[in-house]
Amino acid sequence: MSQSDRRFACPGLYRIVPSLDGGICRIKLSRGRVAAAQMRALAALAEEYGHPEIEATNRANIQIRGVKPGAEDAVIAGLKAAGLAPENSGADDVRNVMVSPYCGLDGDALIDVSSLADKVLERLMRETRYHALSPKFSIQIDGGEAVAMTEHPNDIWLSAMDGDHFAFGFASVPGERPAGAVAASDAETALFALLDTFIAEIGRRNAKGDKIARMRHLLVDRDGSTLAAALPVTVHAVGDWQREAPMPLGHIGARAQKDGRVAIGAVPPLGRIGQKMMLGLADLADRVSGAEIRMTPWQSVLLPGIAEDEAAEAAETLEELGFITRPDRTLAATITCAGSTGCKSGLADTKGDALALAQELDGWAHPVFGIHLTGCAKSCAAPRPAPFTLVALTPGHYDLFAAGDRERAGFGKRIGADLTIEQAAQLLRQREQA
Ligand code: SF4
Repeated sequence: MSQSDRRFACPGLYRIVPSLDGGICRIKLSRGRVAAAQMRALAALAEEYGHPEIEATNRANIQIRGVKPGAEDAVIAGLKAAGLAPENSGADDVRNVMVSPYCGLDGDALIDVSSLADKVLERLMRETRYHALSPKFSIQIDGGEAVAMTEHPNDIWLSAMDGDHFAFGFASVPGERPAGAVAASDAETALFALLDTFIAEIGRRNAKGDKIARMRHLLVDRDGSTLAAALPVTVHAVGDWQREAPMPLGHIGARAQKDGRVAIGAVPPLGRIGQKMMLGLADLADRVSGAEIRMTPWQSVLLPGIAEDEAAEAAETLEELGFITRPDRTLAATITCAGSTGCKSGLADTKGDALALAQELDGWAHPVFGIHLTGCAKSCAAPRPAPFTLVALTPGHYDLFAAGDRERAGFGKRIGADLTIEQAAQLLRQREQA
């Protein structure tokens, strides 16, 4: 598939791509933020033109699925009116800058990367030469927050080493194989110099008919350190720096912010946010979080800036709406891809089966965390192995894999073959008991 074909296949706000259950419109958000009024607009558009529930994605964005044929222009116009659309498709495609949902809130962060992320995003959208980047080309700017996604590989990542420096690396997760470090004041210059190098290489390779789209393609014949050495800023050694491990399941529940207020993370089961949930969330955000809602890369939401004495009631309201705010249920950390109801490659109904699996497991004394059901081996929902992965074989039947913390590819070791959901639940229980 050529690069232009790949571009066509990747959903965007202006490029609503067909799928088994209708069009997919992906709405990329600036630092994952969506205002209460925008959430209401999304609810109205989804109800009128697509599936009534929206999806939270694993890059802190939102998707409307099931867009009816012929309704594409109305959806795009509605998103523009809601202030969710950039000027054009080129600017939309490059909005792939991920930060922690706790960016600017977390007292444990080493650097508040909010303004750097905003500047990078603004330049990517405004300077049209960057529109040559693939819609999948991703950048992560990690301030060292305790709640951070460090499982999604990015084309380029920056990760705070201390209060003044960022380590950086390519085609990997924050902290993995760093190529060097730069002063925080040089980070923007360094990042755009790397992008310029990459875009120049796209042009050179295109002229030779050898198309490249991602940083890993550039690294086939060169080392990341050669890219670092060519930067127009001082590159420092990383030494024995390692990114501190993020807090497990830190995106779920209440957590104190650096200003004494509270943020509450809430998980919509399987990333699906229905009409009642969207409207209730918007009303709650208006009441307690200054109308701000943040999407997270765990397919969940975060309400920031809540007064301490309002936090318990806000969490209760979220639970009543159908969100999970405590990490004691299997669905708090279960993910699936679209499965056979939304994707023609899906061999089983991953969403329906995940609900059935969670029901089997939730009656048990210990919740099982980190389950991924995938409709085929492509594993769209999880770029890195989950602790447990069920890979569909036929409707209702899966192979079950278990992966250790250090596994970086594949699904891990197969521990059960051709299992029904009941059999998979039984095996998971036995394993957790052992
Ligand atoms: S993992 Fe397979 S079945 Fe699931 S969405 Fe991706 S391609 Fe479709």
